[in-house]
Amino acid sequence: MKIAVLREQAEGERRVAATPETVKKFIALGAEMAIEAGAGESASYADADYAAAGAVVGTRAATLQDAGIILGVQGPDPASLSGAAPGAMLAASLNPFGERARVDGYAAAGIEALAMEFMPRITRAQSMDILSSQSNLAGYKAVLDAAAEYDRAFPMMMTAAGTVSAARVFVMGVGVAGLQAIATARRLGAQVSATDVRSATKEQIQSLGAKPIFVENVAGIEGEGSGGYAGEMSPEYQAAQAELVSGHIAKQDIVITTALIPGRPAPRLISAAQVASMRPGSVIVDLAVEQGGNVEGAVAGEVVTVSGVKIVGHRNVPSRLAADTSALFSRNLFNFLSAFWDKEAGKPVLDEEIGDAIRLTRGGAVVNARLLS
Ligand code: NAD
Repeated sequence: MKIAVLREQAEGERRVAATPETVKKFIALGAEMAIEAGAGESASYADADYAAAGAVVGTRAATLQDAGIILGVQGPDPASLSGAAPGAMLAASLNPFGERARVDGYAAAGIEALAMEFMPRITRAQSMDILSSQSNLAGYKAVLDAAAEYDRAFPMMMTAAGTVSAARVFVMGVGVAGLQAIATARRLGAQVSATDVRSATKEQIQSLGAKPIFVENVAGIEGEGSGGYAGEMSPEYQAAQAELVSGHIAKQDIVITTALIPGRPAPRLISAAQVASMRPGSVIVDLAVEQGGNVEGAVAGEVVTVSGVKIVGHRNVPSRLAADTSALFSRNLFNFLSAFWDKEAGKPVLDEEIGDAIRLTRGGAVVNARLLS
């Protein structure tokens, strides 16, 4: 089985879907590895290291020729995949709701497209979960990005010239990214508080040494929510949350927002008036900016200043730590494909639970229930 690793084409995408480490592991499984020249360059993985690991480094056309599996970080243009074996599998983050036309293109091209972000959140798939691995590092980077824009220090410092007070950091949305943001801000010495709609996060916030800020008088989501995810909240909840946030946010120096609802635009958590209530020099990082944004006034790809408050809206935050996020993404792909590797067939054979969840196209048609309903 030939596995092709393509150089990413999307603007600003610095990650790569295999590292020399995973190349070696795939070869040990019996696969033949082909890497498009320069694929790892922007993530600090050199062509020579892939070659030393046993891969053939070549042009895109040569890399794709007769490949039975194609690995990517983001979904490649279906028109750019000619030469691959009929029915080739493509495993990448495919943004199925946002890039529906491309999904149809994979079907038309006879590709079996596998959306890694649809991986079910079950224990045995944890090591295959790209959303977790990438969000984790994004949560860390969001705090560093905030610190870089902030004109003050994070920790309390007692100096001969006087005391510098600790920064107050508020994290909104305590999933994988939010938990890492809390831990990172704590490590930097900030005073941290956090909120979520899922009651199960209260204890997690406390266990990281941060203060939970929760809507108490209206029901939120008890426990973990379906598949661990949040849903859209009732108008009563949203109003109570807005009031709670208004009181709290005016006293914060840094706010990191990470709230997402799968398959829907991100919930709006901070209004322009709430931004204006913060003191000048405060910083907000909106990690949900590409999904519509949690913060009014956030602009994808820009750092804007509104009422003296900086709102950071970097796109593709995982790509800003490309070496480490690529290493984790690549291991997610290896853990996934190797778990289903059938030695006799010489290729992965997916089971129903995971296959049905992540397979978007097969045999020329779109087959995923989430896209058909
Ligand atoms: P996510 O990226 O979908 O959302 C981020 C957070 O925003 C979530 O915690 C969500 O509850 C919160 N949120 C949504 N609407 C909100 C609102 N209006 N106000 C405040 N917060 C809001 O979430 P995620 O990081 O993917 O993690 C979701 C859950 O899944 C977590 O409990 C995580 O531990 C769990 N998980 C399980 C597995 C597994 O078992 N394999 C893997 C990864 C994550």
